[in-house]
Amino acid sequence: MAKRERFITPVTCPECALNGSATWKERENLETTIEDVSDGFRIGPDGEMYCTKCGVKAVMGKTLSRSELK
Ligand SMILES: [Zn+2]
Repeated sequence: MAKRERFITPVTCPECALNGSATWKERENLETTIEDVSDGFRIGPDGEMYCTKCGVKAVMGKTLSRSELK
């Protein structure tokens, strides 16, 4: 069985410039699910990140695997 990874994606609200991050977890079928998001963001029904305060879709940055974050 392949080693499972976690991934971190920085997220920014385009309205209020709130910064946060989303943590993704790789499952056995290699699909990724969102495990955790920073305060101030929520996961919409489409799986996208939204700013809780503004209700707009957050801009996602470059995803890094946790092992790359030293
Ligand atoms: Zn916002």
